[in-house]
Amino acid sequence: PQAGAGGGTRGAGLPGVKHLIAVASGKGGVGKSTTTVNLALGLQSLGLKVGILDADIFGPSQPRLLGLTGRPSVAHGNTLKAMEGYGLKVMSMGFLVDEGTPIIWRGPMVVSALNQMLRDVAWGELDVIVIDMPPGTGDVQLSMAQQVPLSGAIIVSTPQDLALIDARKGLNMFRKVDVPVLGIIENMSTFICPKCGEESHIFGHGGAEEEASKLGLPFLGGIPLHMDIRAKSDSGQPITATSPESAHAQIYRDIAAKT
Ligand code: ADP
Repeated sequence: PQAGAGGGTRGAGLPGVKHLIAVASGKGGVGKSTTTVNLALGLQSLGLKVGILDADIFGPSQPRLLGLTGRPSVAHGNTLKAMEGYGLKVMSMGFLVDEGTPIIWRGPMVVSALNQMLRDVAWGELDVIVIDMPPGTGDVQLSMAQQVPLSGAIIVSTPQDLALIDARKGLNMFRKVDVPVLGIIENMSTFICPKCGEESHIFGHGGAEEEASKLGLPFLGGIPLHMDIRAKSDSGQPITATSPESAHAQIYRDIAAKT
């Protein structure tokens, strides 16, 4: 908690924005950013106005996931205009610094940059901003959870034991700062062979669901490990927006509806 720029007070809400929801993971590489963008699009398909704050300062991936490049323009006052992709309002450190420029800030600077990316941006009227949190459960994440007026948090985990242990840390972090955890999503849950259709449980399966029930948390759903999800993500065409009829898009919409 000491790492935060402003100590322990949770900041005021954002005018015009009804809810802030954090998507967190205990460690990197579990598909948190991919899940964030598709969840945001799922929420949008329910008729909500949605934004994404890419709070992964050290490895911003939302610009790439949404196929967005360029710099935000200055809005009224000293605020920046949020960028827009697939109808989502987006802000990310990826729009503000050149790719390949390493950011070597320490914790308090990161937290203050995140506060600015949230508060000094003209988001307009939104029902929800989904925050792609930095991976892990260190001081930066804790300070953020503490300073940003979150309505709730979602934890993304792969089924492996280790990832689940890390997910539990995430849960405890949000509990510590009284942010309700809305549920757990299991990513890379199963693998369905595109050739023969056989289902394999590469990383095990059902761990997150079991864990959620043990912890008394809703299990929001499992997303399969699938080539289309990866290919679409990496080419800036998130599956929920570009193949809304696919089974995968339906999974993300179902998760959004439960959130
Ligand atoms: P994180 O934000 O947790 O670091 P990413 O969302 O960047 O993880 O995902 C890491 C990699 O895994 C990316 O290449 C992404 O396309 C891929 N990926 C994520 N989820 C899935 C999935 N369900 N199926 C296939 N590939 C996935």
